[in-house]
Amino acid sequence: MDPKTKSEPMRVLVTGGSGLIGKAIEQVVKNEGGSLEGEQWIFISSKEANLVDLQQTKAVFAKYRPTHVIHLAAKVGGLYLHMKENLHFLRDNLRINDNVLQTAHEMNVTKVVSCLSSCIFPDKTTYPIDESMIHNGPPHSSNFGYSYAKRMIDIQNRGYFEQYGRRYTAVIPTNVFGPNDNFNLENGHVLSALMHKTYLAKKEGTALQVWGTGTPRRQFIYSLDAARLLIWVLREYDEIEPIILSVDEEEELPIKDAVKMIADALDFKGPIEFDTSKSDGQMKKTASNRKLRHYRPDITFTPLSEGITKTCEWFVKNYDIART
Ligand code: NAP
Ligand code: GDP
Repeated sequence: MDPKTKSEPMRVLVTGGSGLIGKAIEQVVKNEGGSLEGEQWIFISSKEANLVDLQQTKAVFAKYRPTHVIHLAAKVGGLYLHMKENLHFLRDNLRINDNVLQTAHEMNVTKVVSCLSSCIFPDKTTYPIDESMIHNGPPHSSNFGYSYAKRMIDIQNRGYFEQYGRRYTAVIPTNVFGPNDNFNLENGHVLSALMHKTYLAKKEGTALQVWGTGTPRRQFIYSLDAARLLIWVLREYDEIEPIILSVDEEEELPIKDAVKMIADALDFKGPIEFDTSKSDGQMKKTASNRKLRHYRPDITFTPLSEGITKTCEWFVKNYDIART
């Protein structure tokens, strides 16, 4: 039987399966009944295939013959890594995305869900940002490489649909955090890097150094919430145009408020200092979840303080194996 007939269970390949969101999807699939009977879920990392390389990409697709792909693999990092390596973010991600999308097309994959990010929107814009605004102007200068590479996924999805009728789409998460994040002090995203810094400051009895002024605002989504929504998008969402995965606009908060939650979660009582010689990056990127709420009026999100507490607990417990 044709493996892609509707009655055949999905065989889902998750690229970037060893990362923050990939591990969250694995947990939902394995522990929360996220997988239906007969389905196969395959989680791959760069160790199995370096997706910058076309031959390795083709080989891993030939090995697993997926019917569906959740494409998460990317060169990923926080603000300060972007500022150092814009060219690498551009080139690696352009190549990974082209290799994955074209190989999926050649191997007759039914659906691909890729991952954009709310940081790729125009820097000069009106708020809230929505899905129609991705290409309306240059991104923030701090992460132009990543942003232009990610924007091209949206363009390619349109091309694969117009020329070949492929239903390849993308999600746009805001800042994601949770267990299995990259807790690297220099290169990680804000919450994971600051959890690690707070952990060390408490241990060593020093002040906590927050980079920037602490005034930029962000909407954070817990990785398990993002994972459940990604699985819903794979199963149900039928548009080619992307969909923002975000908490409500009112949940956006200054970094310094999130720092207080981290300090509480780790019981850090020492001084908190702001190194204002370091860049603030984008001051805000308020995203609208109107489209998501239209499709999913039922959804609830893990409160930020609860997600931070759970992630801190995971980090302390797994300090020896966490990506630091
Ligand atoms: P992550 O924790 O850094 O994980 C990245 C994943 O990509 C890892 O599994 C890594 O494999 C894999 N990877 C990196 N380079 C690769 C390569 N050359 N070949 C094959 N695999 C490669 O990232 P994440 O936060 O889960 O992000 C997943 C997706 O969500 C990305 O597309 C990212 O742009 C997007 N996103 C993330 C956020 C966020 O705040 N984290 C927000 C919006 C969108 P190894 O483990 O082997 O290195
Ligand atoms: P962004 O949301 O795409 O800008 O990426 P990040 O997750 O790296 O968040 C950057 C914001 O957090 C900026 O306003 C930084 O000034 C602030 N921030 C404060 N301390 C840190 C830190 O230790 N690491 C990172 N990555 N950002 C920090």
